Amino acid sequence: MILHLDPAIGYEKARDITYSLFGRILKKEGHFIVVLSSTATDIPESFSPYVKAYWTMPTDMQLSSRQYKEKTTEIRIGDTYIGGDRRNTLMMAGPCSVESYGQMDSLCSVLQNEGVKVLRGGCFKPRTSPYTFSGLGSEGLRLMAEMRKKYGFLIASEVRDASHAEEVIDTVDIVQIGTKSMFDQALLSACGKCGKPVILKRSFGATLQEFVNCADFLIAQGNDNVILCERGIRSFEHSTRFTLDLCGVEWLKQHCNLPVIVDPSHAMGARYGVPGLARAAMAAGIDGLLIETHPEPEKALSDSPQQLSPEEFSDMMKSLRKVAKAMDKNMI
Ligand code: PEP
Ligand code: MN
Repeated sequence: MILHLDPAIGYEKARDITYSLFGRILKKEGHFIVVLSSTATDIPESFSPYVKAYWTMPTDMQLSSRQYKEKTTEIRIGDTYIGGDRRNTLMMAGPCSVESYGQMDSLCSVLQNEGVKVLRGGCFKPRTSPYTFSGLGSEGLRLMAEMRKKYGFLIASEVRDASHAEEVIDTVDIVQIGTKSMFDQALLSACGKCGKPVILKRSFGATLQEFVNCADFLIAQGNDNVILCERGIRSFEHSTRFTLDLCGVEWLKQHCNLPVIVDPSHAMGARYGVPGLARAAMAAGIDGLLIETHPEPEKALSDSPQQLSPEEFSDMMKSLRKVAKAMDKNMI
């Protein structure tokens, strides 16, 4: 249940109401909002004079639901926006892992030529095996910042755990929470407080409800700039790395008020399928795409099989422009 308190209510009263109902409190546009569990359906009589408007909710997808806010949240990305009525699809691309200056420099000139605005590269990598490359860490972030300066990109990178959350959040323009960290409360809390756009990737083992509940954790901390990313879920099928849940994408667009982007690279796990899935996602009218690309994919230190070569990336961009045009979307 969401309660909008009367704007005349001060913090202390709002806090008392919240605490006594075991809710969460946030302030927006000058008034306090109290969010209670969706199991709450009645406002205690003693508090009703303080409530200006309220919504009862069927599930704990509350702040992120269309039932609460009909329009898709508009999120500012540098000098442009996604969501709202914009019909923009944001292209984000870069290597799975930032590896070296040479790798980044040669890739960045390709991305710049293709008009990509957001460079995405992993620096603190959550890995499945403890013995594989886990990223350059702070040095990787420094290289990303150098590329931002040289090429004028915005930069996005993943925050893997709380030990370096502040460093990543302070450096990047867009923060990414990865599939393995979707449920991490410390990260959700840190990113929810930061105010920067956050890409929340769906855990490959999470239901849509669990996914949007985690988005609500971010919004409940005061950060509305949440972008949902479908990146494939685990199914019985092992011929592909994961199963891209386009049904889920449609469900999110229908029920949730947040922009939705798609990462076909991790879903497919093999470069041959990435352009086709990217086109399918573009045709579905998504708000952004996240594509892994590397100047020499076969030499990549992580996710080598799924990264597109510069030629493959350029070909994909060419075909995506046609799909975007057919769908009346602006590829930005
Ligand atoms: C990534 O985007 O680099 C990544 C590790 O993705 P995921 O968290 O979806 O596996
Ligand atoms: Mn990767």
